[in-house]
Amino acid sequence: MSDTRTPPSDSDLTSALAALRGENPTLGIPKLHALLLSKNPGWLVSERRTRKVLQSLGLTNTVKGPTSASAEGLKYPSSKLLDGLDPLKYTQKGLALRVEYFDQKKGKGLVVITDVSEGTIIWREDPFALAPEWEIFDLTTNSVACTFCSTPFSDPSSPLIAKCPHNSYSAYCPARFCNRLCLTRGTKISHTLLCPARNPKAKELFQFIRVNHWMALHALVQCTTRLLLSAVVPNPRQPDPSLDEEWAVFNSFASLNLEDRESLGSHQHMHPTWKEAFRLYRQALWDPPADADKKRLAKLSKRTFQSAETEVVRKKLNEELFSYDAFLRNLGRMSLNLEGHGGLYVLHSHLNHSCTPNVSVRHLHQSTNLPRISLIAKRDIAAGEELFISYVDPVLPVSARQQKLREWSFRCECERCKAEGLAVGDELGEVRPPTDLEKELKAGLGLF
Ligand SMILES: [Zn+2]
Ligand SMILES: [Zn+2]
Ligand SMILES: [Zn+2]
Repeated sequence: MSDTRTPPSDSDLTSALAALRGENPTLGIPKLHALLLSKNPGWLVSERRTRKVLQSLGLTNTVKGPTSASAEGLKYPSSKLLDGLDPLKYTQKGLALRVEYFDQKKGKGLVVITDVSEGTIIWREDPFALAPEWEIFDLTTNSVACTFCSTPFSDPSSPLIAKCPHNSYSAYCPARFCNRLCLTRGTKISHTLLCPARNPKAKELFQFIRVNHWMALHALVQCTTRLLLSAVVPNPRQPDPSLDEEWAVFNSFASLNLEDRESLGSHQHMHPTWKEAFRLYRQALWDPPADADKKRLAKLSKRTFQSAETEVVRKKLNEELFSYDAFLRNLGRMSLNLEGHGGLYVLHSHLNHSCTPNVSVRHLHQSTNLPRISLIAKRDIAAGEELFISYVDPVLPVSARQQKLREWSFRCECERCKAEGLAVGDELGEVRPPTDLEKELKAGLGLF
């Protein structure tokens, strides 16, 4: 049989390899080459040519995955690369990005593979979980904004708006949704468990969240329901993500090591607010004290506990969501990754900080989808450059920026900080490790 394969053009090969590298930052060249051939069975390409193209793109260096905790490990947020995350699914046509793992200190970041000109929307993204700002939060509890996407209703009497079907005279639920689609999506990922008409304990939890302005706790609640309501056994006919898939996304968000038992241990009893938050979280979503509520909750989250793996799954959820240590660690994870308006975004959470950011985040869809973000190039960005946002207001002076960045357990060493630090008499050298552990932990938990 003759070989019917043909060599691809340079540009086809280049874009295919750029995409493959983006999806597989840790693969060596031979494996990447094999993957290329398996994905493009009609192509005739030598490994040498693959190597040459990767070299020309500057993509030969494989990225080392995160190593297990070292002596230094506790000082930095730990993050995991998410298998199968394809940044190209998010980007605009003609633009390409890859995820890179730098080192334990810096963690992961995003690097552009193509040139990007100023003002370009690099990608758009919807949140994995949403804990809107209080102004918007109040609109949702007053039935004038969508409980799923948080978009305020331009016409609250529009016939398109869908009410929560469980709202009744005896059990009130204020939830309203833009349309049937938002109702379906919202019900699937959270409202089933958070509907006050179906789960009265969720109402108590939300009152506490609102009184304490605790956005990170709200975000954690939203992630938790997403995990609890995901399918244990994936249904091949339905594209619903499975618990494992949702879990991998949740775990890919960097976390601070707030579970450091030694430091927390002596402080645990000093924080009645954290304990109370944990009690309300657990009773609303996992283990309510009364039998009737237990039964009700089991019924609402039945998808999670139907399978033969019930016990294994239950144990994992209990340990990794509903133990006090995990709760604190997960709160830290939320506040570390929340976007300023309260969304938790998978790709956005990969962005590192710089005091001279080259990317800005915009909410451009106020009337149709408020939490959808657009990432926009603030200047021309050349292929190979890393993308940065600023975690703090870049207008602040260097000392104030460094102070704020401690909330991310982070000391900025960007060119601007170096220059400004020198100008004010090496102010950077004066940034001491925080002594007020309680204050630091509070900040880490998103409780300010
Ligand atoms: Zn909506
Ligand atoms: Zn409801
Ligand atoms: Zn800086």
